[in-house]
Amino acid sequence: MLRLRPRTLLLAGLLLALMLYSVRRSFSTAMTNAPPTVIVVGSGLAGLSAAYTAVRAGARVHLLERAGKAGGNSIKASSGINGAGTRFQLAKGIDDTSFYADTVRSAGKRFTAPGVNRDALVSKLTSESSAAVTWLADEIGVDLAVVAPLGGHSVPRTHRGGGKIPPGFAIIKGLLDKLDTEAAFTLTKGADVTGLKTHNGVVTGVTYATDNGTHSLTGPVVFASGGFAGDASLLAEYRPDLAGLPSTNDVRPGAHSVLTTLGARLVDMDSVQVHPTGFVDPADPGARMKFLAAEMLRGEGGILLDQDGKRFVNELDTRAAVTKAIFELPSRDFGTTRQWGVTLLLDAGSAKAAEHHVSFYEWKGLLKKVKLRDLSPSVISAVDAYSASRGSPDMFGRRTYGNWRHTPGDHDAEVYVGDLTPVTHFTMGGVAIDADARVLTTKGDAVPGLWAAGEITGGVHGDNRLGGSSLLECVVFGRTAGAEAAKAAVVAGSASL
Ligand SMILES: Cc1cc2nc3c(=O)[nH]c(=O)nc-3n(C[C@H](O)[C@H](O)[C@H](O)COP(=O)(O)OP(=O)(O)OC[C@H]3O[C@@H](n4cnc5c(N)ncnc54)[C@H](O)[C@@H]3O)c2cc1C
Repeated sequence: MLRLRPRTLLLAGLLLALMLYSVRRSFSTAMTNAPPTVIVVGSGLAGLSAAYTAVRAGARVHLLERAGKAGGNSIKASSGINGAGTRFQLAKGIDDTSFYADTVRSAGKRFTAPGVNRDALVSKLTSESSAAVTWLADEIGVDLAVVAPLGGHSVPRTHRGGGKIPPGFAIIKGLLDKLDTEAAFTLTKGADVTGLKTHNGVVTGVTYATDNGTHSLTGPVVFASGGFAGDASLLAEYRPDLAGLPSTNDVRPGAHSVLTTLGARLVDMDSVQVHPTGFVDPADPGARMKFLAAEMLRGEGGILLDQDGKRFVNELDTRAAVTKAIFELPSRDFGTTRQWGVTLLLDAGSAKAAEHHVSFYEWKGLLKKVKLRDLSPSVISAVDAYSASRGSPDMFGRRTYGNWRHTPGDHDAEVYVGDLTPVTHFTMGGVAIDADARVLTTKGDAVPGLWAAGEITGGVHGDNRLGGSSLLECVVFGRTAGAEAAKAAVVAGSASL
């Protein structure tokens, strides 16, 4: 056994005390005796996943949310969350070994671009996807038993519940309900984080503004403030060509400058996902904010028709490919917004499989039920041709037909139709992180005391995010960020004892 002399032991003890003191000092500019709290910025899925994980790891958590209600854009998510190798897939006989390859293919040329270790991020995203879905289902109690195919995925892997509640709402509510019962958790709404505090190069907390003035908090920070698809000025800076497109996102400014002020690197900022299918509300066709026509409507069998009533694309191709095909059609000018007129058509089988979505859209006046025979001859023949190709790849390369059940020639059949246009939906770019969710500077160093997760980060999706992978990144990187920040808080806390 190793024998240490009393003098060596004393020196080692002094060294350890000094180290703990310096960590503690970094997190406490005010030098109070309270152990530091993990500070989470933003109450979307990334922030809530981080907060819950940090609380369960024994930390106190203070979550700051700028808006008057929690949930961000996450609460609107309507298609679901990806997971490969989940028990829900296995129960349906789905053998899923292609998630990494599908993600790399969708990321395109950007996958090899410098600035961030994309392979490490995608490997983590895909390999921890099953655990993320299991965590939400078993620990948080969210129903995710329905598995659907979405564009760009080679097998069905997007999980949602079977009931009426959309997945984003179910997941956010589940996490908020859990956190509500935790004494170590505090949520302050109406709190706009405006800056980061530092000490000796370590992030030691935040400053934030409320209606009552400015305040500060001390502790390691997880930034989860979401993307910038709803920020017209950041969009104009990085993608002026998308000016005038409506959006599915809340109209709000991005918080990226809070991080870049500290030297954080931004990557892929021009990589903005335009979702091909936002609903045009006939009651307000020029509106900037649109309801998303969830991708699962196409996954369950729905088709897209151009202004002449003809199909023009594989509806389950990647979002980028479907959007490109729509942009090649003639556009329509609504004065305030640029739009394209595309029709979504569902047969009774597809509509039944998506009935909770469909009844909501019908109630909002975005989808209407009609007899096929009342539509134009070109629509009728497009529907017949699509029905006839069921079971084999069609002329656009579409292989899966979801729950489409229409029989060719049945023109008494009832179908649902709605008017669609492309919308800005998701920003792939953001602050660079490593696989431990640490924020990286322009020099490539990790910023001590600062983590980020969710849509504020860049590099995970490259050129194009797969549907269902954003909720997934929030959970995978949010949990890591929460666990790492909790460790930092616990070290700093024990140093103060
Ligand atoms: C209509 C719609 C449907 C979608 N459907 C899906 C889907 O089915 N599957 C999928 O994977 N993805 C989907 N997405 C994308 C996905 O929902 C989002 O990308 C993801 O939820 C982003 O989560 P987040 O936690 O990073 O940010 P958000 O959920 O947007 O939360 C960020 C929060 O931070 C707050 N905040 C911002 N700045 C500050 C600040 N300075 N101080 C304090 N608070 C701040 C915001 O107010 C907001 O509440 C959808 C998006 C939309 C809009």
